Amino acid sequence: MTSPSQSLQQITDNWQYVSAGVNSAAKAANRDPLSVKIVGVTKYVDAELAGDLVTAGCHDLGENRPQMLWAKAESLIDRGPITWHMIGHVQTNKLRRMLRYHPLIHSVDSPRLLEAIEQESEHQQCTTDVLLEVNISGDAAKTGLAPETVKELLQRTPNHHVRVMGLMAMSGLGSNQETALQQFQQVAQLRDDLQDSTGIELPELSMGMSGDYEQAIQAGATLVRIGSALFKGLLDR
Ligand SMILES: *Cc1c(COP(=O)(O)O)cnc(C)c1O
Repeated sequence: MTSPSQSLQQITDNWQYVSAGVNSAAKAANRDPLSVKIVGVTKYVDAELAGDLVTAGCHDLGENRPQMLWAKAESLIDRGPITWHMIGHVQTNKLRRMLRYHPLIHSVDSPRLLEAIEQESEHQQCTTDVLLEVNISGDAAKTGLAPETVKELLQRTPNHHVRVMGLMAMSGLGSNQETALQQFQQVAQLRDDLQDSTGIELPELSMGMSGDYEQAIQAGATLVRIGSALFKGLLDR
């Protein structure tokens, strides 16, 4: 068994290790380390361990299910400012409750979802920041929009209560470091092309996880979504 203080110590060590890794990957790519933010993915753990990650210094937390996002947001309400990130599939009937916590939604993958976010944000009189999820590897098993359809969706964005801030992607199943890097570079290129052709600023690139964040940072990621590396030593008890 791991005691609460041992868990906090382990998570603090993991956070410092991952932060140092992100820093050196940024420097190796001639980038400002402050231009890369770590989103701590807490989907594997309960609110208590997610709270330990906040104590360790991570103030951006990501969940892949809306119900888990609002449950943790409600448990951690007294833990100081936390920016929430929704990184998984969103059903439109979950938006109302989830938008109260003003998440950045990384996983917009359909015109219908974008329209629903616009409507619910209007209803709640807020603006919601989103990323468009791109299926860059072409894997049938992966979610996201085909690269060709992203431009159309971007141009159709109502843009009153939704702001598209950039793109999100995952490397394909079974990618090695080299193919992951190529895929992330394709996402960055797509972003550049979209900015040029639409005139819309897309500053954020959400890509890279525990196994491939170095390649993602090399390709220009501004948000890396890290789960298992932050909870190492705590997951297979
Ligand atoms: C779980 C998850 C992550 C984190 O993955 P790790 O390999 O555990 O770092 C990142 N992005 C998405 C979309 C996820 O579902």
